[in-house]
Amino acid sequence: MAVPFHRTSKTKKRLRRTHYKLELPGLVRCEHCGEYKLPHRVCPHCGYYKGVRVLDVEDEE
Ligand SMILES: [Zn+2]
Repeated sequence: MAVPFHRTSKTKKRLRRTHYKLELPGLVRCEHCGEYKLPHRVCPHCGYYKGVRVLDVEDEE
C-alpha cells in the first residue's frame, strides 16, 4: 500500500479544504410577487409560474 512520503502541511490541508463548502440552492426572484423561489419551480408564495396562475394560494397580496 502506498504511504504518503511527506506529511501534508497545515497550509496545504487548509487550502485543500477551502473547496469543501455547502452548496447553496439556487434562488431567483419570482417574476410575479418578487419573493425568492427555486428556479423552474412554481412560486410557493403566489402560485404563479411563467406568468400563469397554476396553484390556488389562500393569502395572495
Ligand atoms: Zn410569486
